Amino acid sequence: MKTFYGNEYNFSWIDGKKIESDHSSEVINPATGQSIGLVPDGGAKLTLRAIDAAAQALPSWSKLTAGTRAGYLLDWADRVIADKEALAQLLSLEQGKPLDEARGEIEGVAVYIRWYAEEGKRAYGEIIPASRPGQQLMVFREAIGVVGLITPANFPAAILATKVAPALAAGCSFVLKPAEQTPMIAIALLSHLMATQLPAGVANLVTGNPEEIGGTLSADPRVRKISFTGSTEVGKILMRQAADNVKRLTLELGGNAPVVVFPDADLDKAVDGIMGNKFENCGQVCNGINLIYVHEDIHQALVEKLAERIKVLKVAAGSEPGCQVGPMIDPSYLNKVETLVNDAVMKGAKVLAGGHRIVEDGYHVGNFYAPTLLDGVHEEMELTRKEIFGPVAPVLTFTDESVVIERCNNTPYGLAGYVYTRDAARMFRLIAGLEVGNLAVNGTSLANPQTPFGGVKESGIGRVGGRQGLEEYMELKYVALTLE
Ligand code: NAP
Repeated sequence: MKTFYGNEYNFSWIDGKKIESDHSSEVINPATGQSIGLVPDGGAKLTLRAIDAAAQALPSWSKLTAGTRAGYLLDWADRVIADKEALAQLLSLEQGKPLDEARGEIEGVAVYIRWYAEEGKRAYGEIIPASRPGQQLMVFREAIGVVGLITPANFPAAILATKVAPALAAGCSFVLKPAEQTPMIAIALLSHLMATQLPAGVANLVTGNPEEIGGTLSADPRVRKISFTGSTEVGKILMRQAADNVKRLTLELGGNAPVVVFPDADLDKAVDGIMGNKFENCGQVCNGINLIYVHEDIHQALVEKLAERIKVLKVAAGSEPGCQVGPMIDPSYLNKVETLVNDAVMKGAKVLAGGHRIVEDGYHVGNFYAPTLLDGVHEEMELTRKEIFGPVAPVLTFTDESVVIERCNNTPYGLAGYVYTRDAARMFRLIAGLEVGNLAVNGTSLANPQTPFGGVKESGIGRVGGRQGLEEYMELKYVALTLE
């Protein structure tokens, strides 16, 4: 397995060309703290060049047929799959996630690309019955224009695909800015896209200073939309910036997802679901379970089963065989997790597993945190209000259904929720009651290319996935045509 890429990805993609940079930044392997290569440290100047290229490429790209654009996308997906193993190794090395999870993420990239290649062919308009004789009322759907795409570090390949694929399918050109911790997988994926002979300037990628790149994308009126996935804090900055030229936004932001386990639930199924969701990607998942609400009657049984499973999770570098939980992406994430756990313990939470950093030879000291189970958690603790974004499972108890719904909703976030119950009437009360954009009942799997994923409240605006995800990259043009 390759562990050092040097200058292999030390370039930006602008106007169909690899642009080398005078200034570079190191990319760090979160498992070892060692450099794995260099990428350009770009800023406003490079971003402007990328916007120029995207603006120039837009008219001819948006005029192609959806079928022709689909051809490029399908070719791209094939190339990604042909290079799956190398891409997964790069992703695991750069991001830290277990290699098997990285393989799954790369497969998911191809699934999204292929789905949007086909969905682009179904961007239908409408004919509306007229109010006057001799009139045709029509609605056309058009590509929104040049779009800015900003992606986070937790699923740097999958989230890239959920933006790039619908943008291209809709006929948009774009400027992409990946997260500073995970730029190489983005450059590698774009390189496969460029290998399809995509027309120059349609796809551009800039790495470097987030404020400069984001600020330049926001300020330029040629960029008609920004699609951002990341923290609510940065989403709010982009929203303020977008106000100046009334730019369209898709914002996929932070979450504070509850899972509610009722006494009639299949407990083993609930434990499987919680384990699969909570410790995926070392807990760095936007729709990851943040709080586990369990009915008092089954509380003891649930925590015993969870403790048993959590204590034996294998924590290691993502590339190590059998790794189930990798390092956190960087020390700032771990510091936040540690502060939240310490606060909970100080206020009375009981540590049933983990609760500490892992310091081992060869491992980067600041990035490994033991999978943790906290019991006796209550709302005075900070971690009930903040997104933990780490391998920590806090357990709270409840007795009353309507009260637990209120407790779940008592947060500015509204991304995801999970419910375990076999009672059909209760399922529908929870579906109606929980203020979230995405809800799974008796399971924890939510992501599909054909479904609209997104948040309510401070978890975001707009949707990723589904036909709604394509609509995010299109504008409506209503035409009243008088024939006589
Ligand atoms: P983040 O710190 O907000 O960064 C996300 C992206 O924004 C990165 O590319 C970052 O660049 C960039 N950025 C930072 N400051 C910026 C600015 N002023 N202008 C423009 N761009 C700027 O988020 P993260 O830590 O990578 O990701 C974790 C967060 O993302 C969590 O809250 C998680 O819940 C959320 N998330 C949400 C979803 C969803 O679908 N709702 C999915 C995944 C993640 P740099 O890396 O260069 O700083």
